[in-house]
Amino acid sequence: MKCFFCKGSMVESTTNYMADLDGHFIIIRNVPCHKCTQCGEVTYSGTVAARLDELVTALEKMMTEVAIIDYEAA
Ligand SMILES: [Zn+2]
Repeated sequence: MKCFFCKGSMVESTTNYMADLDGHFIIIRNVPCHKCTQCGEVTYSGTVAARLDELVTALEKMMTEVAIIDYEAA
């Protein structure tokens, strides 16, 4: 797997996903991803991206200003 931006190699890693929504700041920790060893660009698989969408939608409905959850525990 090659980086879309710099053609560097992508390795399996985890990252913290952050979403800054209107009035909500959501952080999801330990999200599985592929990370470029050269420029640090992060990509998610389709499954992970769909799960992130679900989690963000669910957290957005909670009236907390800042939500920090762990991907594995979610
Ligand atoms: Zn790159």
